[in-house]
Amino acid sequence: MKRHRVVIVGGGYAGVKALNILATSGVCDIVLIDQHPYHYLQTDAYELIANECSMTTVTIDLVALCLSYGEHVLYVKDTVREIDFANRHVLGENSGHPYDYLLLCAGSRTAYQSSIVGLREHSHGVKTLLGALSFKQQFEQRLYEKMESEGGWRNEPFNIVIGGGGLSGVEIAAEMAFYIRQFHLDNTLTCDNLHIFLIIPHENVLDGMETYMVQQATKRLLELGVKIINHSRITSVEEHLLILNEKESLCFDFMIFAGGIVASTLTASLDVPKNKKGQLIVDEYLSLPPYENVFAVGDIAQLRDKQGNIIPPTAQSAEQSGICGAKNILALMHNKKRTAADLRMRGTLIALGGPYACASLFGWIRLSGLGGYWVKTIAMGFYRYRINAQCARGLKRLQKKNPSCRKGF
Ligand SMILES: Cc1cc2nc3c(=O)[nH]c(=O)nc-3n(C[C@H](O)[C@H](O)[C@H](O)COP(=O)(O)OP(=O)(O)OC[C@H]3O[C@@H](n4cnc5c(N)ncnc54)[C@H](O)[C@@H]3O)c2cc1C
Repeated sequence: MKRHRVVIVGGGYAGVKALNILATSGVCDIVLIDQHPYHYLQTDAYELIANECSMTTVTIDLVALCLSYGEHVLYVKDTVREIDFANRHVLGENSGHPYDYLLLCAGSRTAYQSSIVGLREHSHGVKTLLGALSFKQQFEQRLYEKMESEGGWRNEPFNIVIGGGGLSGVEIAAEMAFYIRQFHLDNTLTCDNLHIFLIIPHENVLDGMETYMVQQATKRLLELGVKIINHSRITSVEEHLLILNEKESLCFDFMIFAGGIVASTLTASLDVPKNKKGQLIVDEYLSLPPYENVFAVGDIAQLRDKQGNIIPPTAQSAEQSGICGAKNILALMHNKKRTAADLRMRGTLIALGGPYACASLFGWIRLSGLGGYWVKTIAMGFYRYRINAQCARGLKRLQKKNPSCRKGF
């Protein structure tokens, strides 16, 4: 059988899952293009910004990962700007790649609405590793400056504002509040004047999620001292000043914005149907009509369940759709019929600061507190362990080829 050439754009949750299926099939040559040489574990970002882990814990080496699959898989560091669907060609900033099959997995980015003046300039996002790192560094610098200043935060309030009450906003608010509580316990510095505000547009956090999760998350956030400001829309942001609902103001020292996502900038250059968030409209097989050989999976696509309901952009749906897209590419290679995607949420795990999480699994298991934390830790740890073990194989391969290349040198 002729070896087909598959190009995967994006090595996130969807891309690496698809890569595994395609690479282990042994029937194609694969090029994985990503603008970064690592897979950023966004689901663990809250741990990074709250100083509970280092940068290495939230990244997976894409070069080692690709090497682990052997000579038929190549990693290319580039940013894809355009796709010539007619001529089956992917155009990056520095390279061009022909393809027989294309899998678009370029994910999403923070939705900085242009209608909110000053939002992009004065807030931090954590959807990229650089964003999370720069937030962490600047936050610590600012804490230091406050400690140094006369009276520190004993006199002046230190306000952290988090915009958005979805999964990521809630996790970040809880983790920051827990971090600050620990900071106080470890240093005996009073944090009475240090406040975390969670600004949400709806009545409750986690709008649309099941009642159990909403109740558990709200209880924990309040217990940690997070001030939830509901029914509030951010209308503009100035340096250290937030305007809510066009009239109320709130001073802040730091602001994180986690109020939704839009698709990767790549979709702007593609002349195919998209939704308001720029996500690509795919068919039931996750192909991008009218191109049967092009698939879009993960956050970059508007994904639906079997009943036709739009499903939220999560690592879980990214992985499931990545698997489906890869399997359908293999089906086309073997002249078989594609299978319709059957994407379903198996559960939700929400970290709520330190050794505390809540979990709702398979529609009937519900846990919160330490039990939830262990479920989340095991799930994340297992994901990391499996993928790191695969990377270790890639590293060994490299060391065999080039004995002078040893870990640590
Ligand atoms: C703080 C936070 C907490 C979260 N917590 C959870 C959680 O607990 N559970 C859960 O299920 N989900 C969670 N999510 C959501 C989850 O992380 C995303 O849904 C998931 O990352 C989507 O996977 P993806 O593969 O589609 O995209 P991504 O993981 O974003 O990967 C996209 C990849 O494409 C690359 N890329 C983008 N554009 C280009 C281009 N033009 N050229 C080349 N490469 C490109 C990027 O560098 C990236 O590596 C969280 C998100 C955040 C921010």
